[in-house]
Amino acid sequence: MESQRKYPKYFSFEFFPPKNEAGEEKLRNTRETLAQLNPCLFSVTFGAGGSTRERTFDTVTEIKQQSHIDVAPHLSCISSTVEGIREILNRYIDQGIRYLVALRGDIPSGMGSPGEFHYANQLVEFIRKETGDHFHIEVAAYPEFHPQAPDAGTDLNNFKRKVEAGADGAMTQYFYNPDAYFRFVESCEKMGLDLPIVPGIMPITNFTQLARFSDICGAEIPRWIRKRLEAYGEDMESLRRFGVEVTTKLCRDLLEGGAPGLHFYTLNNAEPTVEIWNNLGIVSETRV
Ligand code: FAD
Repeated sequence: MESQRKYPKYFSFEFFPPKNEAGEEKLRNTRETLAQLNPCLFSVTFGAGGSTRERTFDTVTEIKQQSHIDVAPHLSCISSTVEGIREILNRYIDQGIRYLVALRGDIPSGMGSPGEFHYANQLVEFIRKETGDHFHIEVAAYPEFHPQAPDAGTDLNNFKRKVEAGADGAMTQYFYNPDAYFRFVESCEKMGLDLPIVPGIMPITNFTQLARFSDICGAEIPRWIRKRLEAYGEDMESLRRFGVEVTTKLCRDLLEGGAPGLHFYTLNNAEPTVEIWNNLGIVSETRV
């Protein structure tokens, strides 16, 4: 973990592009609240198979124009053509965007062909070839390993491909066991990978939703957390309090262990993130 301590602490908040006017208003309020915490970066997700291509673009450009915080669009390449990716990169360059989260993404079930890119390392390579050093590129990392990876070693080697293709940093899938993250970083150090790997943090506010996400993305909810969340049933206030407590401790353990920041999956809600942030007493002064 020692390699991670040399990086300036880097805090970012992830949003998804809203579907309607009410969602847009909610996101505006959320990002204005979160901007007061002075994070390094906001990021905006990209729907599977390009389904939110325009909404992601619109959300990113609105944030760019209205906020003092830098913003990174997520860009996934599966189901895309070379020309389609080139076009969106140029549109982001025209808007003055300097940060990207480059992903493979997933093909929505029953939809479309894989397109001209098969893995995120190919996307990173393409972005570097087309745009040189214009973008700061973040990629995804999986401390508990990607659900489709045949084994841990193969997944680590595939992570290495993205770094060698030109990634500047990584943000992880969420997890609740800090040892998974520490071991992942140690494996990266042994492979000679030298980049900040920022843990992804999913605040806990809704057990059903969390269980569904976790089944899809392969993130493990430790049994003791799952059992307690189940036991709260409809008592959402107790569940929320327990979630904040567990996630605060996770963040504290990670930062004390040397993690170079935190990436919060906000799900467009400010409150849980603000509460965790205040518990941690973070003062963010850095920029990427
Ligand atoms: P890759 O790095 O390409 O890995 C995918 C799988 O293929 C892994 O099993 C890997 O081991 C294997 N692999 C990788 N490269 C190779 C290779 N060259 N040869 C053979 N096998 C290989 N999804 C969205 O749809 N939109 C988003 O906005 C979004 N944002 C995310 C943000 C973060 C921080 C994270 C952690 C995930 C995000 N995801 C998002 C989810 C992500 O798209 C999925 O997890 C997807 O299944 C994998 O994307 P990847 O970029 O990690 O893929």
